[in-house]
Amino acid sequence: MKFNSFDFLLPDNTWDSIASQNFSAESYGLFLCDLFDEWIKDNNPKIYVRILNTIIDQLIGKNVHFHDFGGWLNDFLLVTINSEGDLSPDDTYRSSDPKLMETDLTVGNSKFGDLLNHPSIHSLYHSANKLSKDCLECSWKNYCQSGSLLHRYEKKEGFTKRSVYCDALKIIYEKISGHLDWIRGVDNDNLIG
Ligand code: SF4
Repeated sequence: MKFNSFDFLLPDNTWDSIASQNFSAESYGLFLCDLFDEWIKDNNPKIYVRILNTIIDQLIGKNVHFHDFGGWLNDFLLVTINSEGDLSPDDTYRSSDPKLMETDLTVGNSKFGDLLNHPSIHSLYHSANKLSKDCLECSWKNYCQSGSLLHRYEKKEGFTKRSVYCDALKIIYEKISGHLDWIRGVDNDNLIG
């Protein structure tokens, strides 16, 4: 393979969907650590792995926007326009509460501002900014910000929980932060792509 840019996405799970699975967030964290070790071994600044480069960017103080970490909703809004012209929030959230997608807005009956002011968008925005107690007390809070909003969802509690991948996130943040001296030792602009 001659690809230089990759990503490894965390599966779109919620607290409800993992309840019926033999789920171990830790195993995702260990996988990402192995990935990071291989990446370091290659020592090739041309290889870009989005989830790893994003964490590095966060740890060295860059402003990043990546769906698998919280905070980005403050600066960006993803919306979905389906093939029939229906407007809704980012349909990643369809697997949480499908009602969030029912806006009754279409490209034909509304202006874009109507979507921005829609209760579904407001609800997601407020959820994104309301971290759980666990997250508020976590040393990775300023980077992780509870992870992806979808991963925080539980039918009973809404988006109020920490990420289902919390243990994975803690493991990979620990791992990469332990290599910051190495990261700073290479040409960061090259490393980060
Ligand atoms: S690592 Fe876990 S507790 Fe910490 S901010 Fe992320 S989801 Fe919350």
